[in-house]
Amino acid sequence: MTQRRLRLAIPNKGRLVEPTVNLLRGAGLVFEAGDRALVARVQNFDLDILFVRTNDIVEFVGDGVAELGITGLDLVAESGATTPQLRTLGYGRCGLTIAVPNDSTYQSAADLSGLRVATSHMSLTKRFFRESGIKVDVIPVSGAAEVAPRLGLADAIVDLVSTGSTMVVNGLRPIEEIFASEAVLIANAEAQRVHGPVFDSIVTMLGATLAARDRKYLMMNAPVEKAAELEAILPGLESPSVIPLAHDGMIAIHAVVESDQVWSLLPRLKSAGASGILILPIEKLVP
Ligand code: AMP
Repeated sequence: MTQRRLRLAIPNKGRLVEPTVNLLRGAGLVFEAGDRALVARVQNFDLDILFVRTNDIVEFVGDGVAELGITGLDLVAESGATTPQLRTLGYGRCGLTIAVPNDSTYQSAADLSGLRVATSHMSLTKRFFRESGIKVDVIPVSGAAEVAPRLGLADAIVDLVSTGSTMVVNGLRPIEEIFASEAVLIANAEAQRVHGPVFDSIVTMLGATLAARDRKYLMMNAPVEKAAELEAILPGLESPSVIPLAHDGMIAIHAVVESDQVWSLLPRLKSAGASGILILPIEKLVP
C-alpha cells in the first residue's frame, strides 16, 4: 500500500489563518491557499495542508485525519485531549480571562463565590473554579458571553481576551487571567512515533523561521581600539564576530541582535566609533 502524504491541519477561517499561512510561507513552504480549497499540496515538501475549522483541529489530529495541526492552546486544553504539543508558535496570544461589569465591586475570583459565571469555555472555567475551591454556577453560552451580564444571565464571564477592547465596549473589566494561550503545533501520537524525524525537521524549520523574525544581523566597521567598547554594547546571541579589514587598524563587527533593540543600539554604536552600519534581515536562525 502506498502511504498518503502527511497532512497538516490549519484553520480555514478566523484570526489564526493569516499568521499561520504567513509562518508556513515564511518557512519556505510553497502552496496555494485558495479560498475554498480543503487541501493544498505543498510543492516543495512531502506535506498536504488541510484547511479546516479551528475548533475541529484537535479532533482531526487526535483521530489521525491529519498527522499535524496548528490551533490555539486554549482549544487543546479545553478539549482535554492529550495530543502531543510539539511547540508553541508565539502568535494568537490571548488569555482566558474572568471579567465583571465595570460598576460591580468584585476584585478577584474569590469574590464570585456563590455567583453565576457565563462562558463558552466550560471545561477550563469549571476546572479553574474547582481547583481554586470557589463554588460558582458555570452557565454555558455558545458565544458572545460578554453580553450575559447585561442580559441578567450572569454576574461575571470567562472569555478570551487579547486587546481587551471587546470587554471595554461591553462595559466589562478583567479581574483575573485563568489560562494563557497562543498558537501551538500539535501531533497525532502514533504518527509522532512513526514520523519522528520528519516532525523534528518541521519543528526546526518553524522554530528557525520564528527565531529569525525577532532578530537582525548587524554589520559595522570600527577602529580596532574600539572593539571592546562595541562588544560590550552588543547583547548578541553569541559573542560578536570581529574581522580584521584590509585597512590597517580597522575591523568589521558582525552581531545578531533582537529586532526591537536595533533602534536604541544604533546611536550608542555610532558614538562608540562604529560606522557603515548595516542592518540585515535573517532568513532562518537555528541556535
Ligand atoms: P477564531 O477562529 O478567530 O474564533 O479563533 C479562535 C482562536 O484564536 C482561539 O481559540 C484562540 O486560540 C485564538 N485567539 C487569539 N486571540 C483571541 C481573542 N482575542 N479572542 C478569541 N480568540 C483569540
